[in-house]
Amino acid sequence: MSVIVLVEHTEGTIKKKSLEAVQYAADIAKKLGTTATAIVAGNVAESEMQNLGNYGAAKVLYIGDNRLNQLHARAFTRILVTAARQEGSPVIVALHDVNGRAIAPRVAVQLKAGLVSGALSSPDMSDGFVVKKSAFSGKAFAFVNVTSQVKVVMLAPNSFPLVKGEGSAVIENLTVAFDEKDFGVTVQSVDQITGEIPLSDAELVVSGGRGMKGPENWGLIEGLAKELGAATACSRPVADAHWRPHHEHVGQTGGTVRPNLYIAAGISGAIQHLAGVSGSKTIVVINKDPEAPFFKAANYGVVGDVMEVLPRLTEAVKKFKAQQH
Ligand SMILES: Cc1cc2nc3c(=O)[nH]c(=O)nc-3n(C[C@H](O)[C@H](O)[C@H](O)COP(=O)(O)OP(=O)(O)OC[C@H]3O[C@@H](n4cnc5c(N)ncnc54)[C@H](O)[C@@H]3O)c2cc1C
Repeated sequence: MSVIVLVEHTEGTIKKKSLEAVQYAADIAKKLGTTATAIVAGNVAESEMQNLGNYGAAKVLYIGDNRLNQLHARAFTRILVTAARQEGSPVIVALHDVNGRAIAPRVAVQLKAGLVSGALSSPDMSDGFVVKKSAFSGKAFAFVNVTSQVKVVMLAPNSFPLVKGEGSAVIENLTVAFDEKDFGVTVQSVDQITGEIPLSDAELVVSGGRGMKGPENWGLIEGLAKELGAATACSRPVADAHWRPHHEHVGQTGGTVRPNLYIAAGISGAIQHLAGVSGSKTIVVINKDPEAPFFKAANYGVVGDVMEVLPRLTEAVKKFKAQQH
């Protein structure tokens, strides 16, 4: 018996959010008195897989099939179902992201398992299997008791702190009997988003809204982001107006971020925007209107003009960094 966890990678490099998922699965396994097994598919180097031992995986089940470098929901479902049956898994962990959303519900159906999406913390097993998750677009929390024998948990990225330990994982090959239909959908081309820090993995985010006035002023957002080592994001009207690419749009109809720091410059704080950012650990709001709703959700607020505040903040960060050397 072991808790299994699906691991995602980008061109062979295991994603940070998957390391979190492995650590999360190891935590559940410990509570259940068992171990965690990571499922890795596609072309991934042995050293990457061995590194999973440092995050609590006792074993890696590997299936090195080139076709699995892309998301094939049916094939990945079959992999997880095969592995879960082989391991007699009481709990299957996936991420609450695009891949997880395509795979985890199918796995739950096939294993007749209860599913909890958007998990924010390790389950409380003192009386059942109670998982905290976000509800109503991030405005509330729900505590869900999963009562089925087998459970599928989708972990929200950036909600389980990552701590690298020391450990080793045994790597074994997994054999799966695929059906041709598992690869029935062919991806013709992939537009890779090239940014220094992927928004979904970012621990620091600098975000701009309509108060930035136009794309010509985005150098101020990028300048601060560069100094902080942060990713950049934006509100929906900014993406709709093509000031910024759509993948940067966060909120109810965009991406969800849960960084340690979210700096919102010239964003009013509409509920649809807050739905995507309210899980941030610290929110800093810069807005010239003291009545802007975002201030109610902020940990720190600056009432001022972004055109003045952003350059001064960037200078202050630069100065602070110089003092550290
Ligand atoms: C179904 C639905 C889904 C939606 N989904 C999303 C979503 O996913 N994400 C999202 O963001 N929105 C979403 N919206 C839109 C949302 O309701 C708001 O309209 C939007 O978030 C506002 O964007 P904004 O704050 O950038 O712009 P505005 O509302 O125009 O606010 C601009 C802010 O900048 C401030 N400002 C102006 N000039 C300056 C300056 N010089 N210095 C400092 N501050 C300044 C103003 O005081 C104001 O608070 C959705 C709406 C609907 C109906």
